[in-house]
Amino acid sequence: MSDLVLFWHRRDLRISDNLGLAMARQRSPKVVSVFCLDPNILDRDDVAPARVTYMIGSLRSLQDRYAQVGGQLFILNADPRQGVPQLATALGAKAVFFNWDVEPYAHERDRAVISALNDAKIEVTTCWDQLLHSPEEIQSGSGAPYTVYSPFWKNWSSKSKAEPAPDLKTVEGLSDRELAEAQSAGTIALPTAKELGFVWDNPLMLDPGEQAAQERLDEFCSRAIANYRDQRNYPAQLGTSLLSAALKFGVIGVRTLWAATVDATKQSRSDETKENIRVWRQEIAWREFYQHALYFFPELAEGAYRKVLKTFPWENNETYFQAWCDGKTGYPIVDAAMRQMNETGWMHNRCRMIVASFLTKDLVVDYRLGEKYFMQRLYDGDLSANNGGWQWSTSSGMDPKPLRIFNPASQAKKFDPDGEYIREWLPELRRVETEHLIAGKIDDDERDRAGYPKPIIDHVVQQRKFKEMYQQQKQIT
Ligand code: FAD
Repeated sequence: MSDLVLFWHRRDLRISDNLGLAMARQRSPKVVSVFCLDPNILDRDDVAPARVTYMIGSLRSLQDRYAQVGGQLFILNADPRQGVPQLATALGAKAVFFNWDVEPYAHERDRAVISALNDAKIEVTTCWDQLLHSPEEIQSGSGAPYTVYSPFWKNWSSKSKAEPAPDLKTVEGLSDRELAEAQSAGTIALPTAKELGFVWDNPLMLDPGEQAAQERLDEFCSRAIANYRDQRNYPAQLGTSLLSAALKFGVIGVRTLWAATVDATKQSRSDETKENIRVWRQEIAWREFYQHALYFFPELAEGAYRKVLKTFPWENNETYFQAWCDGKTGYPIVDAAMRQMNETGWMHNRCRMIVASFLTKDLVVDYRLGEKYFMQRLYDGDLSANNGGWQWSTSSGMDPKPLRIFNPASQAKKFDPDGEYIREWLPELRRVETEHLIAGKIDDDERDRAGYPKPIIDHVVQQRKFKEMYQQQKQIT
């Protein structure tokens, strides 16, 4: 009889190109899997209903995938520190496999799970799956982690990349006795997001599950990737992959992603297309840069990386913050972006930078409030990417440029020149002349007629003020 081994899914909700799962299958044909609805994560106050909806949908699709190969994905509504060892023990598992994560909570949790499994004399095997290169693989000549992206990219891109891991094809099913034991260890039917208390009725940018993510990747690589370098900056265009939530939950494997870029490069007829593919790869590397950063510097999750911003005297005006959250600042490009996120659970990258700069540099609100609000709304909300993006936009992170301040009007002029994006999300401003719309120069009468607020602050005044505060802070730190 084959040994039973347990695979613990976390942010790798797929059976294709899953390294840890492939290793488990190599260890034994009798693999059974589990996912924990972890109260330490789901009970936090920064969980987006859209994200839970995507996750539950992806788990449902994963259960279907397991059913197709004769396997089983159990669901536990429990703290994994107790739930995983209890289930492994109840099933008589000989080994537990899982893939590492970079987040500080994951470290602590995984150490506790490993220790409990060791006590129960159950083997534990772990590996890196969510990154093309593990944090230990990409370090400077002196063995230190990188804190600047360019040398990181140089090193990261020079290393050869692994092929996708073999898909799970078949597994041995469980006996009735084993199924009953799993049930007595607390496994439950997969609840809906609503049953968990998360209501999200709007459509998501990408359907959950492996198949939708693979189709999206194929579609992107067959078309938009060829123009990615320029198109990715225009929020009115569908110029990016929309794969961020799939990557956050590991609904698609990073090696699969890389292999798709290798194929696209081979098929491309021009150097121009190859260059566009390279630019998309750079974004994949940004994702890894921020994950490595969080792994080596877990304190990033708590506050600013750069000294000058660590004790910055943020004003945190509550009225300003609320206007920003609601998309009612009176700055059209900022408000359009916030409404896109509030309504869809996703925001274009260019706009994430614009609204983050606006909150911190114009409204002088602590970036951590914006970071949390993003986590409460984004369906791709991910600690490392979100924190990295916010710290970059605040000029508090791993960015060699000391201070960046975005001018909303210039950004709109450059990246939404026809006002298409603004009009989509601010229908009340549809009739405003394009030039005025993108410059945010709409007279008070027109604003009143449209029911659109007057600007809550003056960008020119506020950016001057921020620069002064920044200089003062530099002198005292
Ligand atoms: P594409 O342009 O197709 O890029 C492909 C993939 O590369 C993305 O899916 C993502 O996984 C990764 N990627 C791209 N840009 C970045 C980046 N700057 N940093 C890290 N990874 C990147 N991304 C998240 O996945 N989750 C977040 O919570 C998140 N919060 C952000 C907050 C701010 C303030 C900023 C400025 C950026 C944030 N990003 C975040 C990064 C980026 O905006 C999104 O990854 C991107 O918009 C997702 O769209 P896409 O999948 O079409 O990206």
